[in-house]
Amino acid sequence: MASSSERPMLLPALFTMKCPSCRKSTVFVNKSIFPLGKCLELKNECEICGEKMKSESNNGGGINYALSMMLFFLNLLWYWPIFGLSYKDNSVYYYLVSSTMVVLVLQPWLMRLSRMLYLYLYVGFGHSRRIDIENSHP
Ligand SMILES: [Zn+2]
Repeated sequence: MASSSERPMLLPALFTMKCPSCRKSTVFVNKSIFPLGKCLELKNECEICGEKMKSESNNGGGINYALSMMLFFLNLLWYWPIFGLSYKDNSVYYYLVSSTMVVLVLQPWLMRLSRMLYLYLYVGFGHSRRIDIENSHP
């Protein structure tokens, strides 16, 4: 294993879908989200540090829901200045529809991001060095 004297930054690693333990190798099998059916396919383990990616049967579902809601309301930031919101016309309705569209279109990335967040919450930096000890206990 390479020396980890230099610790890669947390957030860039998180958003580029890097391994939570060494922050060098990617977590997903496919770099792109296509094919969509496999966009959440994780590697069995990190090829650099050996951190197990599939050991947790997480789906990040709760985090995904939170992210989707967050994005939904973040859409206000561009929708409001550009189109304006008023209770007098249908603008609220259009906002809801366009927000839903944005959330749906970005869903593959949101799902990846929530899975990443879950991994990063669960697996700390340098975690892989301890995994053999942990696994030896049934
Ligand atoms: Zn790793």
